[in-house]
Amino acid sequence: MINFQYARAGSVDDALRLMAGTPGAKFIAGGTNLVDLMKMDVEQPQALIDVSRLPLATVEETAGGGLRIGALLPNSDLAYHPLVEKRYPMLSSALLAGASQQLRNMASTGGNLLQRTRCAYFYDTATPCNKRQPQSGCSAIAGHNRMHAILGASEACIATHPSDLCVALAALEATVHVTGPAGERVIAMADFHRLPDATPERDTTLAANEIITAIVLPPKGFARNYSYLKIRDRLSYAFALVSVAAALEVEGNVIRDARLVLGGVAHRPWRVTAAENALRGEPADERAFARAADALLHGAKGYAHNAFKIELARRAIVRTLGQAARATPQSQSDKRIR
Ligand SMILES: Cc1cc2nc3c(=O)[nH]c(=O)nc-3n(C[C@H](O)[C@H](O)[C@H](O)COP(=O)(O)OP(=O)(O)OC[C@H]3O[C@@H](n4cnc5c(N)ncnc54)[C@H](O)[C@@H]3O)c2cc1C
Ligand code: SF4
Repeated sequence: MINFQYARAGSVDDALRLMAGTPGAKFIAGGTNLVDLMKMDVEQPQALIDVSRLPLATVEETAGGGLRIGALLPNSDLAYHPLVEKRYPMLSSALLAGASQQLRNMASTGGNLLQRTRCAYFYDTATPCNKRQPQSGCSAIAGHNRMHAILGASEACIATHPSDLCVALAALEATVHVTGPAGERVIAMADFHRLPDATPERDTTLAANEIITAIVLPPKGFARNYSYLKIRDRLSYAFALVSVAAALEVEGNVIRDARLVLGGVAHRPWRVTAAENALRGEPADERAFARAADALLHGAKGYAHNAFKIELARRAIVRTLGQAARATPQSQSDKRIR
């Protein structure tokens, strides 16, 4: 591990000032991803700017009827917040499907959005990886690619984004509030994570000198008809092979509104307008769910070890939509651990 400087920021302005004055610096919050990456020599920041004590750990109701979640709120506090459990239960469910209770106690909301891929080659500095070392090649395309993308991949990178929280945030159409040297701006979840294209080293549209201050949820929480299903190799402490966030508004047996997002299959949460349109105005039955699955998986492509994910995703989508329509959401085993 290389030597690095450390400074604790006292305010958002202080954090931005420290960042501007320290070349090669990175923000650190819970450290659950960044410290691992530093230990493995994947990230080599010259300095760490600790933002973990900034007063950004509250949940507040917005004037428009939504919720403003501070970027430093731990994942566990967010999952168990009474307003989130009541109005946005899909968010709680997605969070509790991720990591372990100890990790969720440390992991921040903002840090979760910026966690890096779990592609094994990205962590192995002895192998080529375009995300870690631009233009060096991608070891996964012809290598062990069981966990990798089936949608939106490029010739430069087939990694997936590993977050569970982000899949639910995309379905809820959350916005990411950031502050940088040029002031504040708001980024829609749909625009926050990038596809790899020719520049997989960039995961998001956030600039290196910008700090996430909050995530804002719109009023519509789909609290009745929702489900978050995560398919993984172990029931806990494992990343998604495929995950599905499904949220419906059902009247009688007719779907009035729908949100459908896949996780574990692409470089960003995967949402396609045509899939949701295939559900609106339709009876909530397996035929409509299968049509939505086809639309969401349109263009899916498997590699040597992950082609099974296409059929797995198709079945998971149909199952999750059924759970949402019946208002019988997937329960998370960690729900009982507090
Ligand atoms: C064993 C293990 C299992 C896991 N399983 C899952 C899982 O199943 N599902 C899942 O979703 N996640 C999982 N995680 C990931 C975990 O949720 C993330 O590591 C965590 O959310 C990152 O938050 P942090 O505060 O620790 O970020 P840090 O490690 O502190 O930072 C991560 C990145 O975000 C940047 N950053 C942090 N905060 C800000 C901010 N406010 N503004 C700008 N930049 C910022 C840092 O510079 C860094 O680049 C797992 C992690 C581990 C170690
Ligand atoms: S898939 Fe992406 S992260 Fe993995 S080796 Fe290829 S370039 Fe690197």
